[in-house]
Amino acid sequence: MKILIVEDEKGLAEALGEILRREGYSVELAFDGKSGLEKALTGKYDCMILDIMLPLMNGLDVLSYIRVKEIDMPVLLLTAKSEVEDKINGLDCGADDYLTKPFETGELLARIRAIARRISQATDINPKFGDIVLDLKKFELICGINTVVLGRKELRMLEILISNTGHIVTKESFVNEIWENSDESAYNNVEVYISFLRKKLQLVHSRVHIKTRRGLGYCLEVS
Ligand code: CA
Repeated sequence: MKILIVEDEKGLAEALGEILRREGYSVELAFDGKSGLEKALTGKYDCMILDIMLPLMNGLDVLSYIRVKEIDMPVLLLTAKSEVEDKINGLDCGADDYLTKPFETGELLARIRAIARRISQATDINPKFGDIVLDLKKFELICGINTVVLGRKELRMLEILISNTGHIVTKESFVNEIWENSDESAYNNVEVYISFLRKKLQLVHSRVHIKTRRGLGYCLEVS
């Protein structure tokens, strides 16, 4: 899990970074709101620890901005004891949790672990079969360390195949679920998209195959 810490008290930021690294997290630091925002907008972090009182841009503004940009990583706000109102504002503008300074290391780690648990539960909703996982949010087909981006229709087709494991999915059901009109071109499209999916399964070196049952439809198999 990759964590971004945005905190202008350098000593505190670095100490937090050290503690989290020792727990096995990968950590990056930013010491003001603006550079914190720039880093957050890259979208490469799983979680952000965000101080409220920051130079250049305050934490609550950083938070509202990333939520507007639909970056939905969990955010743990750090607030000074006097900033009770900020807590409420923080939760209103999309923070997941807050911690009042000064805090115990154990408390911080517990909150981070809770966030990590929530993240892994969220990824559990992604359909899996054999050695593949579909990331429904990122439109990705994942097999071990290999990833390939799927088109909207490809993703939906593979999702349907996975949810019907052990059964044959007919061309009709693909057409009904995915294409708006059910003329002949839609039926031909099913074949085309199946061949795209087969190529992408090969690309990620998956052992999962889409088997054609002649005259019936398609099903998934693991070789
Ligand atoms: Ca501060």
